[in-house]
Amino acid sequence: MLTSTQVKAHALKAGADLVGIAAPERFAELPDRYNPMSAFPEAKSVIVLGIRIFRGLYRGVQSGTFYAGLSMMGYASNKWVFQPVTLWKFCSLFEDAGYETAPIPDAFPWSNLDGIDPDEMGQDFIDVNPAFFGKDSRDFSRPVKDDRPAPDIYFQMRLAAYCAGLGEIGDSGVFLTPEYGPRQMFAVVLTDAELDPDPIFPGGLCDHCGKCIQQCPGCAISSSEKITVRIAGREISWNKLDFAKCSVALHGGGEKACNPFMVSEEDKAGFNQQPYTAARNYKFGPIVWSGRQIGAWRGCHMACMAHLEERGVLKNKFKTRFGDCQC
Ligand code: SF4
Repeated sequence: MLTSTQVKAHALKAGADLVGIAAPERFAELPDRYNPMSAFPEAKSVIVLGIRIFRGLYRGVQSGTFYAGLSMMGYASNKWVFQPVTLWKFCSLFEDAGYETAPIPDAFPWSNLDGIDPDEMGQDFIDVNPAFFGKDSRDFSRPVKDDRPAPDIYFQMRLAAYCAGLGEIGDSGVFLTPEYGPRQMFAVVLTDAELDPDPIFPGGLCDHCGKCIQQCPGCAISSSEKITVRIAGREISWNKLDFAKCSVALHGGGEKACNPFMVSEEDKAGFNQQPYTAARNYKFGPIVWSGRQIGAWRGCHMACMAHLEERGVLKNKFKTRFGDCQC
């Protein structure tokens, strides 16, 4: 029999920076298409691993001199390299003890969101770009039985992290932990091993300062509208995000963009196109698709991280102050 203590020690040894455990019942209020238990109904625990994003990777964006590091090492390598490697090492412990695991990195081009109105929010919320998914998308898949959601189901890492007691969702919609603030990504393991769950995090990291809203280059975070979701027997909420604006800003455009690759009017038009539908600009295409996310989470990550550090509420302390962006 595996214990929670053994499992957590093994997760850290496998490479995770954070680990939390959720009981399946905490997801029960979610629609089936958002509930991880739809994929593995026999699962008895949901384990969430957090992999930190190194703080120094934000410096190139803050100084306006080097954009590839954060998106390649902090984003792509975290999701597509380090998470799968960590999960591989972690899950062997379970199989050796006779338990199944379904390791799920934050790396899939999922899902079926057909038939969902992108403007619909609340318990049927979505958090993807409506220009790519949602009511305008093609038919994608069908349920194999009447009582099952169509594949692939879509569950959110931040909700799993919440259920595993790792932290809270800030007003920005970004998950915040007491260790790193917004500076990590999550992977999930579903298993039939029954483990003691962690308590839900009591909250208090987000103080509703509004810096994520003010400093978002895309003006994508609403200052007044909220999304509310029932989960783990509670109601949680965050501010509504305009995903089309967020997507443009992440890739270098936006109303308050500070993008040094935006030199000509043609660049400006290119970077402000919806990235998933019109990557035609000669510079826009290669820069965006090579992963140089110029917006690079300025408000929701960098402004929030600096604010939480200034307040002294994060456990990971540094000798050098992070401070504000140069532009
Ligand atoms: S920047 Fe302020 S309001 Fe936004 S998520 Fe962080 S703490 Fe909350």
